[in-house]
Amino acid sequence: PAPAAHAGTEVRSTCPYCGVGCGVLLTADGQGGLAVRGDPDHPANRGRLCSKGSALAETVGLSGRLRAPVVNGAEAGWDEALQLVADRFRDTIAEHGPDAAAFYVSGQLLTEDYYVANKLMKGFIGSANIDTNSRLCMASSVAGHKRAFGTDTVPGTYEDLEQADLVVLVGSNLAWCHPVLYQRLLAARAERGTKIVVIDPRRTASCDQAEMHLAIAPGGDVPVFNRLLARLYEGGALDKEFLARTNGFDDALRAALTSDPDLAGVPVAQLDAFCDLWMQHDKVVTIYSQGVNQSTSGSDKVNAILNCHLATGRIGTPGCGPFSVTGQPNAMGGREVGGLANMLACHLDLENPDHRSAVREFWGAPSVPDAPGKKAVEMFRAVGDGRIKALWIIHTNPAVTMPDADAVRAAIQGCDFVVVSDITGATDTARLADVLLPASAWAEKDGTVTNSDRTISRQRSVLPAPGTARPDWDILAEVGRRMGWGTAFDYETPAEIFREYAALSGITGQFGRDFDISALSDLDDAGYDALSPARWPLTPTRQGGRFFGDGQFFHPDGKARFIPVTHRPPAARTDRRYPFRLNTGRIRDQWHTMTRTALSPRLSAHLAEPYLDIHPADAAELGVSPADLVQVHSPAGQAILRARITDAQRRGEVFAPMHWTGETAPSARIDALVPGETDPVSGQPESKAAVVRVTRLAAA
Ligand code: SF4
Repeated sequence: PAPAAHAGTEVRSTCPYCGVGCGVLLTADGQGGLAVRGDPDHPANRGRLCSKGSALAETVGLSGRLRAPVVNGAEAGWDEALQLVADRFRDTIAEHGPDAAAFYVSGQLLTEDYYVANKLMKGFIGSANIDTNSRLCMASSVAGHKRAFGTDTVPGTYEDLEQADLVVLVGSNLAWCHPVLYQRLLAARAERGTKIVVIDPRRTASCDQAEMHLAIAPGGDVPVFNRLLARLYEGGALDKEFLARTNGFDDALRAALTSDPDLAGVPVAQLDAFCDLWMQHDKVVTIYSQGVNQSTSGSDKVNAILNCHLATGRIGTPGCGPFSVTGQPNAMGGREVGGLANMLACHLDLENPDHRSAVREFWGAPSVPDAPGKKAVEMFRAVGDGRIKALWIIHTNPAVTMPDADAVRAAIQGCDFVVVSDITGATDTARLADVLLPASAWAEKDGTVTNSDRTISRQRSVLPAPGTARPDWDILAEVGRRMGWGTAFDYETPAEIFREYAALSGITGQFGRDFDISALSDLDDAGYDALSPARWPLTPTRQGGRFFGDGQFFHPDGKARFIPVTHRPPAARTDRRYPFRLNTGRIRDQWHTMTRTALSPRLSAHLAEPYLDIHPADAAELGVSPADLVQVHSPAGQAILRARITDAQRRGEVFAPMHWTGETAPSARIDALVPGETDPVSGQPESKAAVVRVTRLAAA
């Protein structure tokens, strides 16, 4: 591991709390403490920080940290623990085949960690059973991009938000979930009068400065954007020149013209006012996030949005484009190295034999699987029914955060062999491990991350790791060596891994792809250490720019594809037993299952306990008063929450935040209520449309 920086030296790094990827300046005090300020030179934030970023120093304490490996409940040495992991994975593969092994990883891994995990599973173990909690976050956007553009490529940049005249937020509470981007948007609005439209069943903080809020029905996104496409056509607002660079417009238009706008759940006049606003502004950015992605029709919703931008050529030029914002700090880096069950590294395709053989040759690997592995929900089902017998979970807590969480917890508990790498052994998932491996935390490890607008930034070590904790790439590489693949995993520094990964990206050009960061493959260690934020593409002619404004796409014919989309309601249907629709999501000041943010008193003071938002009329019917405890039942599980009565909710719909766990609030594990229904294209679960009943439990 790289040595921690000397105390007192200010070190540039990247905030780990969301996909905005803000730069931070860190100064260690030599006593384990840290001073943090926003990096004025980082292009994502120019010195700004949000509440979570500015509280980073309060969340690096060592309380609860895992300091040594634990094998079957007893502290062990690294040698014993890693040999056991290597032996059990090797034996499992020998006895049951490579698909009996799986890795479930995290968008909080650094790109170098992700690269090694993906290479070990896909290249050497010989299975594609590596998936990530990013599957729960942005898989529908990945699928939508691939269908429309030919690759998973985000067209725009953060600057587009500041150059747009109209910014549409769809299923995105940008004010709470990507706060620095929201700050940038509000600053642009103050300067140039940018108009904001929010499309979301809930009235959120992002509506405060919006011209218009369409409080659509859950799943009403496709009717909204089909209406927009139809109105663009009827209003003569199509870009015919740009359409010549696309395929499939007629089918998409036919689907849009026959789409029933009433299914959006708002008055058609309101929908049309939104369409008029769109047509009145040449520069439109549509930002979308979990409200779009976390749905059984998530990929179709994404393509409904992309269709409108393609039809008007509002893509890839300043102030224009569809923009998927990712939740996790390195969800994008994971996509780039292929850390999902249906992807190959460097935006190459697992299903393409030429791509597979190029990657296999580069890695010197025995084989690369020709079929996708199991995506997150399928993966835990295969754990539950015994098809997967050796599972390695890295920096994530699926016993709490997967849909149908009670069943996932039981599956992990029943699995033959479970390894968990994490910074703490106190998560619901870590408690189920046969082998627990202590990993370095954010401020203790070196590597790179990529944010939502494709900017690669360095994360740098400033604090020593506690006990014998090690970086994830190092743990994974050591297991690779012990499984017999010494040469392929002979890494000593993250810089070596980054150089290899950057060199691999150089082969993409021969397949007509533009993910080429090979310009960074000859960085020496000092160059890697000093690497400044760099947004790809890094090819000489397209430095850091946008994609697709030139009408060049990555399908074999170079054209974009329209996808015809029709409305599909959420999979679970409300009925007399379960009359409410449950939406789930983040709150402003917590992160995931609070393993780090709960260490900060001021972050915990924002919203201190789990709750359920419910409309006043629904509360009155149920006899629920403010602050009453309510019991929430779904077909999958149950939870007890504090009622908050608010007309920010639509009638018949309730909302609960997803951060509390078996550790922090055993009765409030929200994902125990969420069913494991997934989008058939992306495999992303429908985390925002469970059906529940609510009963008053007791007065406060
Ligand atoms: Fe960190 Fe995201 Fe806040 Fe930036 S916006 S400081 S990356 S949590």
